[in-house]
Amino acid sequence: MREERLWQTVLGDVEITLSRGNYLTWFKNTRLIKISGGTAVIGVVNIFIKNHLGTKYRDLIISTLEKNGTTVKSLEFKIQNNLAAKHSEELDGPTLGKQPIKTPNQAVLPPTSIPTAQPLSGVGQSYRQGLNEKYTFENFVVGSGNELAYAACQAVAAQPGTKYNPLFLYGGVGIGKTHLIEAVGNEVKRHNPEAKVVYITSEQFVQEFVDALRFKKAGDFASHYRTTDVLIVDDIQFFAGKEKIQEEFFHTFNALHQANKQMIISSDKPPGDIPTLEERLRSRFVWGMSIDMQNPDFETRCAIIQTKAESLRQHLPHDVVEYLATNIATNIRELEGALNQVVAFCEMRGLEPNLPIVTGMLGSNRNRPKHLSAKQIVDKCARYYQVPLEDLLSPKRDKDIVLPRQVAMYLLRSELHLSFPKIANELGRKDHTTAIHSIEKIEKEQLVDQHVRMALANIKEQLYA
Ligand code: ADP
Ligand code: MG
Repeated sequence: MREERLWQTVLGDVEITLSRGNYLTWFKNTRLIKISGGTAVIGVVNIFIKNHLGTKYRDLIISTLEKNGTTVKSLEFKIQNNLAAKHSEELDGPTLGKQPIKTPNQAVLPPTSIPTAQPLSGVGQSYRQGLNEKYTFENFVVGSGNELAYAACQAVAAQPGTKYNPLFLYGGVGIGKTHLIEAVGNEVKRHNPEAKVVYITSEQFVQEFVDALRFKKAGDFASHYRTTDVLIVDDIQFFAGKEKIQEEFFHTFNALHQANKQMIISSDKPPGDIPTLEERLRSRFVWGMSIDMQNPDFETRCAIIQTKAESLRQHLPHDVVEYLATNIATNIRELEGALNQVVAFCEMRGLEPNLPIVTGMLGSNRNRPKHLSAKQIVDKCARYYQVPLEDLLSPKRDKDIVLPRQVAMYLLRSELHLSFPKIANELGRKDHTTAIHSIEKIEKEQLVDQHVRMALANIKEQLYA
């Protein structure tokens, strides 16, 4: 068909004009349906793409058509659910298809006090803003499984509070939820440094709330969260069964929603599946948009490995990339972990990564014991750094104790997924914020510091040997 050929040429031109991420996200599953009366009718898979193409890429599309001998004056976009047959499960599956965007303008909200935004003083300052700037849209690889979430997050970052409020992302562990929702926060801050953007995990929210009650600072707590411009709450499933917290969050939600402030929420399950989530919260969570994130496909996993390897300045042969993408198929965090381990292993021995090395390493990883305990991890860290275990657990803050302690906290999180308060507790600390800071620090350092990377690889090797 003429249209089909023409559109393929147009896409070819567009592909070399845009970044790969943008091309894949916005143009991959588009089709030229027809041209009539000076209007090109373009089929797209969902409303985000429709809106985005219409506002951001209208001129590009018209001029590229022109360049290929077809003059049109206007564009029209049609949503066609069958366009991405292979992705249809994700794109118009349960959430998007059956829960059209609802606006809550009819809803009757209970009276909620909305404190006016004012600079925080005293205790307010101690609440964390919490964004980790390493998570950006630029270093997020877009592909099947996450493209819709990516598009929604970009839309929200461009106009917080106006669309899709709340934006609710859900999906399994390690597939990029935290990365994306923090990227929104970072993007908003980039355009508007004054914006009050707060990122918090639901565990921290709970902990801070409990502390606030204990220290009679509930008012400060409430006004801190109720005056944000963008509130990002990660892993909300931990609210399950916590009634007081749910109530507090309900009021926060209402205050922010009424003031058109953006909320972004992540969870490992859809709102309807979180056990003992109060009905009134559940119903609010689906007011906006909920999106299911899936594990990326093989090509996307390869692209992710390549991007991460580049950021570590490590060249990886093709077969190694493919081996990793094939064998670690369910979780990007593990993929990243395996890559870090390969890189550290080769750095230590002055080798270039190749397939036999990598298969050898990952083969031995397979035999992970199931019962790794917190104690074993802390023990191995003390041993690796040759410091007495008692010192790690003591209040000492000497330099040579602090790093091993931070590494231990990091490993407790990455290997056992313990909560922050638990981690603090394992190392004899009362304050869970120490754990948060330590883990973030090691997360960052392993990207730039070879010694930290090696320590982690070495300790893990011993733990799983
Ligand atoms: P989740 O919150 O879903 O458990 P994270 O957002 O913490 O997962 O992602 C785990 C790791 O994988 C992070 O380091 C993140 O940067 C990385 N990651 C996940 N998806 C992608 C992607 N599409 N592109 C680049 N990195 C990704
Ligand atoms: Mg997460």
